[in-house]
Amino acid sequence: MSPISIPDLYAHFQQCRRVSTDSRQPQDQTLFVALNGPSFRGADFAPQALAQGARVAVVDDAALAATDPARYAYVPDTLLALQELAHYHRQQLSMPVVAVTGSNGKTTTKELLSAVLSRRYRVQYTRGNLNNHIGVPLTLLSIDPQQHDMAVVEMGANHQGEIDSYCRYAEPTHGLITNIGKAHLEGFGGAEGVAKGKGELFRYLAETGGTAFVNTQDARLPALGQLVPARVTYPSPGDTYPAELLTAAPQVAMRLFDGTPVEATITGAYNFVNLAAAAAVGAHFGVPSADIAAALAAYDPKNNRSQLVRTELNELILDAYNANPSSMAAAIASLAARPGEAARKVAILADMFELGDESAAEHHALGDLLARQEFGLVLLIGTEMQRAQRPGFRHFATKAQAAHWLHEHPLEGRLILVKGSRGMGLETLVGEL
Ligand code: ATP
Ligand code: MG
Repeated sequence: MSPISIPDLYAHFQQCRRVSTDSRQPQDQTLFVALNGPSFRGADFAPQALAQGARVAVVDDAALAATDPARYAYVPDTLLALQELAHYHRQQLSMPVVAVTGSNGKTTTKELLSAVLSRRYRVQYTRGNLNNHIGVPLTLLSIDPQQHDMAVVEMGANHQGEIDSYCRYAEPTHGLITNIGKAHLEGFGGAEGVAKGKGELFRYLAETGGTAFVNTQDARLPALGQLVPARVTYPSPGDTYPAELLTAAPQVAMRLFDGTPVEATITGAYNFVNLAAAAAVGAHFGVPSADIAAALAAYDPKNNRSQLVRTELNELILDAYNANPSSMAAAIASLAARPGEAARKVAILADMFELGDESAAEHHALGDLLARQEFGLVLLIGTEMQRAQRPGFRHFATKAQAAHWLHEHPLEGRLILVKGSRGMGLETLVGEL
């Protein structure tokens, strides 16, 4: 059986409109793309998807496809076909596509700038954190020119060449790099490697005449931004869209480029930059500043990313969604900067994953950083966090041990930062706090 061409596959897609890669999800008239997993063959799930209502199944099994040529489409590589289909679709769309990448704050910034742009346009944007080689094409394929005027696409990466490959099929017209920090050091080969990898977005925009939004408070981005002739800068004085931070805690209060005040629900100096980024993009697309301010003020993340949670006993800064050296440092600085006695403040921190060879050194450096603070209690969780242990801190190898200790020694009247990598799932400690 010969493989289907991308234009023919696109004709199927247009009949279906919705794409599914998960046979456990409802399959009402979907185009089911049978992706292979680490321990399963996607084609094995295709008959089930069709039985559940998928219209057509794209499989890499020619023999299976031959059993029902009307309902199967054969391709040699289903992931590649998904990406090529997304590219083909993108090429039919004449609308701005804003790509958002960076080490930290991609999802927050994506949500903020989608909220701002939505005040004036019909915006399709990445759902949740679907920012990888599957999520990016699925996001593109969810853009409906009848329903959307523009799109915002989050792009995550943990190795060189990844962002460039997303750009080749997403063809962004605009791009924003939130910052260049220490995340995914392992795959990128150190901090310089991160700059190079994330910089692929600006290089793509330079090559294609796109527009870059440049964070001038980042150490590396201004130089990378120089590559792009059409650039919009924020948030420093003298930039295209400056912004002024009035206070970072308990919530960010700031002024936009024209003085419009914003009182946000999110906290921390790093979120000021995320908010300012969203304001810059909104202003660039002509959203009136009163609407920008309203959208930023209304944004309320309910997803474990720097959430302020009041329990019966304590006040929590719940940041259990993820952690890496730069976001840890930002969160610790933000806790230290909060009003109130240092002795009332508590840091409960768990392992940072994906640091490769630099894991030991980065956890050790975190210990040094914590030792310079005056928090009332530092509680460390996980095997890597052993490196951050210093006199006066408490270290537990497992979350269960920490939970047990907290149960025996309840905290009360404290301001508690809770932060660790996603895999550590620190939100489950909230019950003890
Ligand atoms: P992922 O790589 O998982 O997609 P992300 O880049 O989308 O992450 P967010 O989900 O927006 O990032 O935020 C995750 C955490 O990163 C936040 O809870 C916060 O601790 C931290 N963070 C957010 N913005 C910044 C920033 N500008 N600088 C440093 N840390 C930040
Ligand atoms: Mg994200």
